[in-house]
Amino acid sequence: MKNKTFCIIASIIFLMPLFLPPASLTAEEPKLTVVTTLPVLKDFVEQIGQSRVAVTTLLTGMESEHTYTPKPGDILAVKKGQVLVQIGLGLEVWVQGLIANAENPGLLLITTSHGIPLIREEEKQIEDPDHGNHEGGNPHVWLDPENAKSMVRLITDGLIKKDPAGKEFYLKNQGRYLMQLDEMEKRLQGEVKNLQYKTIITQHPAWPYFARRFGFKVAGNIIAQVGSEPSAKQIAALTRLIQKEHIRVIIAEPQLSNKIPQTLASEAGVALITLSPLTGAIPGTDTYISLIEYNVHEIIKAVRDK
Ligand SMILES: [Zn+2]
Repeated sequence: MKNKTFCIIASIIFLMPLFLPPASLTAEEPKLTVVTTLPVLKDFVEQIGQSRVAVTTLLTGMESEHTYTPKPGDILAVKKGQVLVQIGLGLEVWVQGLIANAENPGLLLITTSHGIPLIREEEKQIEDPDHGNHEGGNPHVWLDPENAKSMVRLITDGLIKKDPAGKEFYLKNQGRYLMQLDEMEKRLQGEVKNLQYKTIITQHPAWPYFARRFGFKVAGNIIAQVGSEPSAKQIAALTRLIQKEHIRVIIAEPQLSNKIPQTLASEAGVALITLSPLTGAIPGTDTYISLIEYNVHEIIKAVRDK
């Protein structure tokens, strides 16, 4: 009798792996520790890694990606991490210092912008060639879902490198997520397609990849880079541009002061909306897909309602 019970239990234990989803981890197994610079990268890693990864992000989404200063705890996070995921292109200028101070030789750095064709920032470089030079390209690559797909592939490769046992699991999740990104992109492109007013003014140059993918046109930026202020002459030029191009909406961002966008919008008599380049700053935009949907829908609503 005892033997029979033992046999039943043994065969249940033996057969159990067959009924579990492939290579997802249970609560007790150690997870791959991943640190990301931006919260949007945390979402990408979680979509692919799910139960096999434990992800922390250094920026919460409320700080500007250009003026972030690492906290004391960031060094500890990088010291303990197995993988660090960044955008690159000089956006996170502080990452190299963080890596040097963390003294973690086993750390794998994934630079997700690698291989993405860049939009150049001619205007900015003429004005101030020494500042904000992101190795010759605009670093806000993630706001185009096509670029996000490339970034997700690099993340998947990195996770597999550090955790080969999860390969099948990561690839399966990648396939599903790439399909979701594709579906979102096509659906939103369809929604924008027949809009009459697609020209926008944005607060800082975060939006060229986003605008190009969805068919919007950025006529101008209020500031050429975060930390600078527009002159009265530049504001006047923007006001004229709004009239000339029949622009109906100005875009502010939750990470920056909305004082000047507000003044400009009320002077020009156009709508002011807040869009975020980072996940987590506006309620309901914690994932990349929900963020892009929110940003596109807010523009559609603003130019239709006006
Ligand atoms: Zn930016």
